[in-house]
Amino acid sequence: MTATDLGDGIWRIVAPLPFAAPKSVNCYVFESDDGLTMLDCGVDSDAGLAALWAGLETIGGALTRLIGSHLHVDHIGAGRTIVEKTGAQWMMHETTAEDIPRYNDWSLRATELAEAASAHGASAEFITSLLNNWERPDWYGTAIAPTDPIADGDRVKLSPDRHLEVMYTPGHQRNHVCLVDSRTGLLFSGDHVLPRISPFVPYTGPEHDHLGDYLNSIERIVDLDATLTHPAHGVEIERGSERAHQIALHHRRRLEDMLDHLTNGPQTAWQVMESTFRPNLSFLQQRLAIQESLAHLEHLRRKGKVRLVGTPAAWQYERTGR
Ligand SMILES: [Zn+2]
Repeated sequence: MTATDLGDGIWRIVAPLPFAAPKSVNCYVFESDDGLTMLDCGVDSDAGLAALWAGLETIGGALTRLIGSHLHVDHIGAGRTIVEKTGAQWMMHETTAEDIPRYNDWSLRATELAEAASAHGASAEFITSLLNNWERPDWYGTAIAPTDPIADGDRVKLSPDRHLEVMYTPGHQRNHVCLVDSRTGLLFSGDHVLPRISPFVPYTGPEHDHLGDYLNSIERIVDLDATLTHPAHGVEIERGSERAHQIALHHRRRLEDMLDHLTNGPQTAWQVMESTFRPNLSFLQQRLAIQESLAHLEHLRRKGKVRLVGTPAAWQYERTGR
C-alpha cells in the first residue's frame, strides 16, 4: 500500500528508514484547496523517496507545502530534495535556522558533547568513541532554512473553513511542533508523543532545561484532551492525552530515582547514568543515556533539588536537602 486513506482528506505514507529502530516514519498528507500539504518526509534515500513519490502519486495533486515537525534526519532528511524538486513551501518552527549548522556539520555537536561528557565523568573510551564515530551518511541530506517559518498558534490554511493549528512543543528538540486539524480535532504529534517509547530528551549545555520544556509541552497535550493521535512512528494512539500523561509520569519517576541515587553523597552524571539505566549499554545507548541523565539532573538543579559541586572540568551533583 503506497498511501493509506485516513478519511477527511488525510492520508498516511509510511517511508522506510535505514535504522533497526524505528524502521519507518509516518508522513501525513492533507488535501487542500491549492494542492497537498505534507507533514514530515523521512530520510534522503532512494527507498524513502520512492515510497514518498509513489504515495503522492496515489493521492494525486501537486505538493504545495512541506512541514517539518523537527530537525531530525528521520523527519526532514529529504526536505531539501523535495522542496527543490516540487517548489513546495518549506515550513518549520522559527527556531530551526539556529540548529541548521549543527545538523549539517556533526563535528560541532560531537565537540560540544565530548566536552560536556568529559566534565561530567564519562570514561575516556566513551569520549574517544564520541569523537571518532560521526561519519555522516548521505541520507542525512543538507538541511536548509525554512522558506516559511512557523510559530505557536499559527494556522496553516487548507481551505476557507479548515486549517492546521501549530502547537510549539519543544523538549525532544527545541524546534519541535505538533499540528491539530481544525476539522477533525486530530492531533499529529511528531515525536513529541509516541505510542511505545518515551521520546529522547537531549542535553545541550546548562543554559537549557530541555526536560523542563518537554514536561511543559507534554502538559499542553494533557490539557488538550486529545483522543485519536497520529504519531510520527508506529501505530495511531487511541487516547493521546492519556499517553502524554503516562510519559510525564515516567519522567517524574526517573527524577525521583536520580534523587535517590544521590542520597549517599555527590556523584557524577556518568555515575548517576550507570545506576539509573540498565548495565552494558552500547556506545550509541550511552550517548543517549548520558544526555538523558544530564537533562534530568539539570532539571533537578533548576528546581533547587540538586547543585553542582567540584570544578568545571570535573562536576558532581549533590542533593540540596530540599
Ligand atoms: Zn526526533
